[in-house]
Amino acid sequence: MADSIRLASILEESIADGPGLRLVVFAQGCPHRCRGCHNPQTFLSVGGQNFSISKLLDLYRQNPLSRGITLSGGEPFMQAGPLAQLAGAIHEEGGDVVTYTGYRLEQLVARADQESGVQALLAETDLLIDGPFVLARRSLEHPFVGSLNQRLIALSEKGEQLLEDIVTPATVPAVERLHYPADRKLP
Ligand code: SF4
Repeated sequence: MADSIRLASILEESIADGPGLRLVVFAQGCPHRCRGCHNPQTFLSVGGQNFSISKLLDLYRQNPLSRGITLSGGEPFMQAGPLAQLAGAIHEEGGDVVTYTGYRLEQLVARADQESGVQALLAETDLLIDGPFVLARRSLEHPFVGSLNQRLIALSEKGEQLLEDIVTPATVPAVERLHYPADRKLP
């Protein structure tokens, strides 16, 4: 398994990519090509820069106020194996993991039996924010989603805590709770 991750950029302190103060890594490479995407520089897999998992872990440890990490992109599931390793290391530090994806959860679960990296990253994700950005359904009002088709899905108890910290039913379009992999029943 690769021990480096190709990233378009890093935000060492963000409050806009999940609850609390977070380290955010933007994966390089994205197959979705959503119209209106704010990060078109992430489309090509050949761009960006390689970072070792230990370097990223060091960055996380440098800030004791960080609540966790957010894996964004680009498409994190294109580098699911190494990002799962990083997410696992953040969990060992006591942090939580928010993962954005342009795939729907159902697509990822369907791949997980054949692709160990996808399975591992789902297992290490506490809160999944899924679905492509759909310009016609863009929302500037809802926390942590770009368009109203996207869902906030808790995949673990930590994910449920993250949801409780950000969600009131009136302000978020779709919220799901599904523990992975213990509960494979799809929403
Ligand atoms: S999934 Fe995200 S990064 Fe990829 S094209 Fe869509 S909005 Fe852009």
